[in-house]
Amino acid sequence: MMRVAVALFLLGLIAACGPKQLAPDAEFTCDRCDDWNLPQQPFRVYGNTWYVGTAGLSSILVESDSGLLLFDGGLPQSAALIDANIRSLGFDPMKISAIFVSHAHFDHAGGVAALQRLTGATVYSSVEGVKTLSSGRLPPDDPQYAEKNENGFAAISNVVAVQDGDVLNVDGVSVEAVYTPGHTPGGTSWTWESCALDACYKVVYADSLTSVSADGYFFGAGPAANQLIESADRISLLDCDILLSPHPFFFGMQDKLEKVDAGNPFVNNVACAIYADVALGWLQQRLNAERQKPIEINVD
Ligand SMILES: [Zn+2]
Repeated sequence: MMRVAVALFLLGLIAACGPKQLAPDAEFTCDRCDDWNLPQQPFRVYGNTWYVGTAGLSSILVESDSGLLLFDGGLPQSAALIDANIRSLGFDPMKISAIFVSHAHFDHAGGVAALQRLTGATVYSSVEGVKTLSSGRLPPDDPQYAEKNENGFAAISNVVAVQDGDVLNVDGVSVEAVYTPGHTPGGTSWTWESCALDACYKVVYADSLTSVSADGYFFGAGPAANQLIESADRISLLDCDILLSPHPFFFGMQDKLEKVDAGNPFVNNVACAIYADVALGWLQQRLNAERQKPIEINVD
C-alpha cells in the first residue's frame, strides 16, 4: 500500500514538473529569478503568433504550415512552464522544429537545452551567439561576463549559425535575422509576417538593447556603446507593425493585455521606433554615469 502511495506521489510530481527532459539543470537554476518565472497565461498576439513565456521572460510560438517555431526559452526552470503553456493552447510541443535565440544569456537561453532535449529542434543564432550557446560560457567581451561563469547556462548542441540578413524558410514561415549586438556581442532580432482576417503584419522580436553589465565594465570603453546605437537605429528602421522583445516589460505586455477589448493593442507601427529611442536614452544615462567614475585599470 505504501509503495502504491509513493508511486502515485511520484507520478503526481512528474505531471506537475512536465516531461523529464524538461527538468532544470540544477547547476544553472537561477535562485533569484522567481518573479521573472511567475506563470503567465499564454495568449494569441496576432494570427499565427502566440505568447507562451512566463510573466517576466518572453517565449514566442509561431505556427507554421506543418509544425511550430519557438523564439527563446527563458530560464532553465521556465522550460516546463513554456511546455505547459504550449500544450494548454492545444499545440503539441513535439512539433517544434526550430528554436531561435535572441541573445545568449541565462534568462533567455537557459531553458533552450531542455526544450531541445524534449523536441529535438534545431537551434538558430548569430555567428557570435553560436559560440556562446554551444559552450554555455559568456565570452570576455560580453558586458555581463563574469570570470567564474556565474551567468552561464547549460550548453546547447546542434546550434546553426545564421548570417545577418539571412531569411530562413521554416515550414512555410520566412524568418529574417537582423544582427543587433551591443547588449551581447551576438544579439539578434528576428522578424516574420503574421496574417489573419485579410491583414498581414510584420512582427519584430527585437532583442534587448539595455546597457546592463557586470561590475567594472564600461560601455564607453569598447565597441558596445556604438553597437547599441547602430542596433537601435536598425530596429527603429525595420518594417514593424508588432513589437515583441525578450522581456515582456519592454513591449508593455501587461498594459496591453488590459486593453485587449479595444482592438489589438499589440499592433502599433511606431512601437519599434519608440523602443529604440528609449534604449538610446538608457545608454546615454549609462555613459553619463560612467564618465562620473574613473575606469579601473587592472594592472595585475
Ligand atoms: Zn541579457
